Amino acid sequence: MTATERAGAIPSPEEVLGYGVGAERKIPDWPLMVDYFTRLAEASPRVAIEELGRTTDDNPLILVTISAPENLARREELRAINARLFDPRRTLPEAVEGLIAEGRSVALLLCTQHSNELGAALMTLELAHELATRDDPETRAILENTITLIVPCANPDGHRMVVEWYARWLDTPYEGQPMPWLYHRYVGHDNNRDWFMLTQAETRLIAALHNREHPQLVFDMHQMGRDGARFMLPPFIDPLDPNQDPIIQAGFATVGTALATELIHAGKAGVATHIIFDNYSPSLSYGNYHGSVDLLSEAASCKFATPVEIAEEDLKERGDYDPKRRTWNQPLPWKGGRWSLRDIVEYDLIAARAFLAHAARDRAGWLRRFDGLMRRTVTRADGSYAYLFPERQTDPPALAELLATLTRGAVEVGVASAPFVADGVRYPAGTRIVSLAQPAGNFAKTLLEIQRYPDLRRWPDGPPLPPYDIAGHTLPLQMGVAWVEVKEAFAVETTAHIDPVRPVGTIEGTGRHGYALAPTTNRSAAAINRLLGAGLRVFRSRGRLDDLGLPPGAILLPRTEGADKLDGIVAALAADLGLEVRGLEAPLGEGAYYEQAQPRVGIYQSWKPAIDEGWTRFILEEYGFPYTTLHDADIRNGDLAARFDTIVLPHQGREDVLHGNVEKNDYKEPYPPEYVGGLGEIGLAALRDFTEAGGTLVALDAACEAVIKGFWLPVKDVLAGIDRKEFYCPGSLLRILVDPAHPLGWGLRRDETAVFINSVAFELAGEGTTVARYPLTNPNLSGWILGAEHLAGKGALVEVPFGKGRIVLVGFRAQFRAQARGTYKVLFNAIFRGGLREVQDLR
Ligand SMILES: [Zn+2]
Repeated sequence: MTATERAGAIPSPEEVLGYGVGAERKIPDWPLMVDYFTRLAEASPRVAIEELGRTTDDNPLILVTISAPENLARREELRAINARLFDPRRTLPEAVEGLIAEGRSVALLLCTQHSNELGAALMTLELAHELATRDDPETRAILENTITLIVPCANPDGHRMVVEWYARWLDTPYEGQPMPWLYHRYVGHDNNRDWFMLTQAETRLIAALHNREHPQLVFDMHQMGRDGARFMLPPFIDPLDPNQDPIIQAGFATVGTALATELIHAGKAGVATHIIFDNYSPSLSYGNYHGSVDLLSEAASCKFATPVEIAEEDLKERGDYDPKRRTWNQPLPWKGGRWSLRDIVEYDLIAARAFLAHAARDRAGWLRRFDGLMRRTVTRADGSYAYLFPERQTDPPALAELLATLTRGAVEVGVASAPFVADGVRYPAGTRIVSLAQPAGNFAKTLLEIQRYPDLRRWPDGPPLPPYDIAGHTLPLQMGVAWVEVKEAFAVETTAHIDPVRPVGTIEGTGRHGYALAPTTNRSAAAINRLLGAGLRVFRSRGRLDDLGLPPGAILLPRTEGADKLDGIVAALAADLGLEVRGLEAPLGEGAYYEQAQPRVGIYQSWKPAIDEGWTRFILEEYGFPYTTLHDADIRNGDLAARFDTIVLPHQGREDVLHGNVEKNDYKEPYPPEYVGGLGEIGLAALRDFTEAGGTLVALDAACEAVIKGFWLPVKDVLAGIDRKEFYCPGSLLRILVDPAHPLGWGLRRDETAVFINSVAFELAGEGTTVARYPLTNPNLSGWILGAEHLAGKGALVEVPFGKGRIVLVGFRAQFRAQARGTYKVLFNAIFRGGLREVQDLR
């Protein structure tokens, strides 16, 4: 068929795919799906397609917009109406009804962020075709009243990995088993925990889409395990973040139960509301803080496109939810049986249509409530007025990064043009100001305030209820940024903070004898890597350099012979990284120094994928650390000391580190043998040899247990075996006290904030150094802790000598989700530790 012949004939998914949507054991690859939407948009005046941008692995991330042709023809005008409703500061109340009469509700379907949850992505092919071709009253109402935005697949990279992996094992005993690697190059499942930090290409593009379109409704469609509910919908269970507007939280119930009702009406069993999922962490949703009712659904999974059989008695309870029981929030339980990809597509399709029908039916109501909640947000008076950021910071680039995170999230940041007084304190011009009375004020507030997570128990005095994600996320604490909450309103002239602002790098003095850099900024690590990469020699001070006012670990670049390229490189570094460089006006005398070599770094990657491993790579690449990925066989083959100086075991439990994937899962299904197993005893022995020969082994949080036990270290995990009723800290920000004179503590402040998520804490029972410990008082800064006394004075970061080498045990999440930037230096120092050599002078 030529293009002319094709025009007018609207292709069905089956015509393009060669099989029906959700067909057993068939998964269309991403280019084919993009091709379908492209042909649909060519053929139908109701459909438009747009590439939002490129993904991490350079695939197209697309948006499909569907509405009546007359709405698509006035997209700019409709967008402008929605933008005026989003910002009521620009809209007089008397203009609102006119805007509502002219406007259209905007509903965003955000599908298959998690690539093994295929149903929603495939469903969008059928949904788009229906909306393009049907003319029943419901479809017409959706087209006329609503702008439907569809992101068919929020992670195309992972989709392509799944297609390849699934095809590889089709027709083998391993068909449908999960992949042994993350379905996003860096963050795997945590791509759905990046909704405020916005570190990844995909979340950034979708947040920008939000900021452009301001949807009133968002539907984030997922899948979960195979033996629970067939379909989960809101309302969410407590706690909900109090920074979500009440009308948004009411909307979870309104829309969630409406969708559940439609599914049950269609005879779909096993639909449950108000189970398992709370809505406390902003990492899970962007919309709820930007005026949208952002819903979540979780369909039961099968094995990619391979169906499963589940007997009713094998359905599993989780928390208070029992899939087998008929209850108010699950009036039609599922009786077990066969469950296929087509089932998931059908549930998803009914839910998605009901979602759009709701947006259309109550078009004016959605726009009116949107105006109401946005108006409430910009005129708020709830005890907090603004947050201030002084220019003076320990790590100035970290402040720039924090402000960039906020502005990506549509937060307006002001710069004081003159000195001003707030809450009785005088602040200089240049102070950054985030007023909460602005459209993205709820987003700003949840990120900038201290969380007081509620003490929730299963029953009075019973064990605590765990949060679905974590309990504390205050961003300035995580990033080591100084900030101030202001309660009373104040007035000052401001200019807009333009982002991204790169802090201005400076070079002080002539640098006649070389240069020096403080180790206090994260970017000083990037500087070291660039200097070493350029072939320059880098030294570190062992103590304070009082003359220069530099702390231990200062980065020293003496003007040695052959260092004529030094000036150019240092100037470029200062400018690119925004660093403050000191010129040395006198030679550095003899004393106690280290020479810093580039450590050869190995990062362990289990075939049972660990998300923290991906984040570790993401951060090391960002800061220019060369590294090699090590699989089980690479470690088990031994001779590691000849190839590596530092080996990092990312956060992963002992069982997984040692045994990895098991031969057969809980359903007695085998796993591909080449990806079965873990480090095992042989791998542990190889790591012991490596360390004994002089290597630095770094274990992050949960991985510490494998090392403590596998090396018989004289270190006790003081929290092991303590009942959850006695001690529980499922994700809070805790104060730690650091020794900045130790090479692991270089550049850190004496008190820092650690992300503690069911983490470990140490007591030395032999040789070793505690570099950071918990205070004797309650360490909780944001979030929730039960039994804080169990942490009093205990070690958070320890170094234990082992043979000629050393072991670094990090008992918290030092680089958690690229949020915990205040403790990045712990990871960087631990890695650089493997490249330090004691010297007396700098030649
Ligand atoms: Zn998911």
